[in-house]
Amino acid sequence: MDPWGCLPIRCNHLDDTIDPAVEKVNLKTNPDIAPLSAVDALYAESEDWHLNTGGQTIHAKRLPGRWRTIKWLLASVWLVYFLGPYLRWDGQQAVLFDIPNRKYHIFSATVLPQDFWMLSLLLLFFAILLAVMTALVGRVWCGFFCFQTVWTDVFTWIEERLEGPPAARRKLDQAPLTLAKARVKVTKHALWILIGFLTGFSFVAWFTDAPTLWSTFFIGQANSVAYATVALFAAGTYVLAGFLREQTCFWLCPYARIQGVMLDKTTIVPTYDEKRGEPRGRVRRDEATAERANGDCVDCNQCVAVCPTGIDIRRGQQEGCITCALCLDACDQVMDKVGRPRGLIRYASLDELEGLPTKTLLLRPRVWVYSAILALALGGIVYGLTSLAPMELKVLHERAPLFVLQSDGSIQNKYTLKILNKTPDILSVTIRVSGHDQIRLAGAEEPIETAPGGVTPAVVFVRIPRRLLAAEQQPIVFRVEAERSSGDPVATERESVFIGPPK
Ligand code: SF4
Ligand code: SF4
Repeated sequence: MDPWGCLPIRCNHLDDTIDPAVEKVNLKTNPDIAPLSAVDALYAESEDWHLNTGGQTIHAKRLPGRWRTIKWLLASVWLVYFLGPYLRWDGQQAVLFDIPNRKYHIFSATVLPQDFWMLSLLLLFFAILLAVMTALVGRVWCGFFCFQTVWTDVFTWIEERLEGPPAARRKLDQAPLTLAKARVKVTKHALWILIGFLTGFSFVAWFTDAPTLWSTFFIGQANSVAYATVALFAAGTYVLAGFLREQTCFWLCPYARIQGVMLDKTTIVPTYDEKRGEPRGRVRRDEATAERANGDCVDCNQCVAVCPTGIDIRRGQQEGCITCALCLDACDQVMDKVGRPRGLIRYASLDELEGLPTKTLLLRPRVWVYSAILALALGGIVYGLTSLAPMELKVLHERAPLFVLQSDGSIQNKYTLKILNKTPDILSVTIRVSGHDQIRLAGAEEPIETAPGGVTPAVVFVRIPRRLLAAEQQPIVFRVEAERSSGDPVATERESVFIGPPK
């Protein structure tokens, strides 16, 4: 046996000591083990994989697998971030956060600051969703959606394409500077900076007309805030995803700190089955299954090798685990190679691993409570968006004096109307009042022009003959009507009160 614990079959360290006869005997003795040198190859590289102590850049190994595919698919939702600003709707940008004009266009809806209660609901919705997902399935946001881990994944993918697998990258880092090394490094950093730039540019494009931004940005005609924002995002992305990488998850991210209070023993997270895996030990090719004294963990370190944060999941749940599940792929592949069942590392709760009874998600009360809160918040947002009125009206009754007796014997009340035009059109608004047979309106004989997105005040007077006033207070209704440039009528009403002398 060599220092790696491998038998001289086809070990990478003692390749020239392969004895086909031994291999034949071993395979006959232990048919569970695949007749490959793959396991030995894993041992050969296992010493390369170190736990993350913060001193070295983590060069994680990339393996194809089910969770790797899921990770890419889920990360692809970020394409919306890059492509979303170019979606057009009704001839304008479908989603535009127009901060200078304090208007937010979401498809055909225009949200004004007055409707910001919806933003509160939206924030509530995402905050609860994050808490729910963490409580149920751990840091699934960190592992599959977080911009830090997704961008880092893309950056390291580029690094691997240019510099090779982890061992080659480490070697290249230590090698003296040559023209070839400089070419590779410059290409990599240029691509990283380009992605950083696109990240910043796409962010700005949500806040201004995207085609206009393209036509003005590169000739120095864009807003200075746009240049500053793009520069900030480009630099931030470059540093965070290119250099700090997993250290951001360890040391900078506040969410990593609070996750501990969100998990409990029923939370399903990537977990190492200690009962099954321990005592760990290297696989021996001449060992019959019945004689095996070790657990299923063959101590190959592949789970550490693929971990983007460089932790060892066999040490239990740790703050460094972003629950990306890549170690599940790695371990399953090892299990396949050594002929043992998959799932030594799997999504499981601590209760499940301890053999305690577990409830399915749908039978847990807190799932229902969380779902109800989420549904309420979502319902409020949908209701708000679908019932946004194109015009709003506020009526302020003059208090001093409450009423005036006119020379013709009528009682007059003064009102200030505030008309909010939420459409993108200039509206010519007609004001009407109702609530009494003999009610008359003065001061609004001509339609009033209201600017899009703005509040237009109008002072009007309402008169009712004193002798026909049945009560000291008479309910009345103001109505404003207009026609949009498309020909669609818009109108809204507001109740108020007409006040007369005491009876
Ligand atoms: S848990 Fe799986 S991947 Fe990790 S060392 Fe053990 S066998 Fe290898
Ligand atoms: S331990 Fe596994 S699930 Fe956790 S971060 Fe590392 S690879 Fe991802």
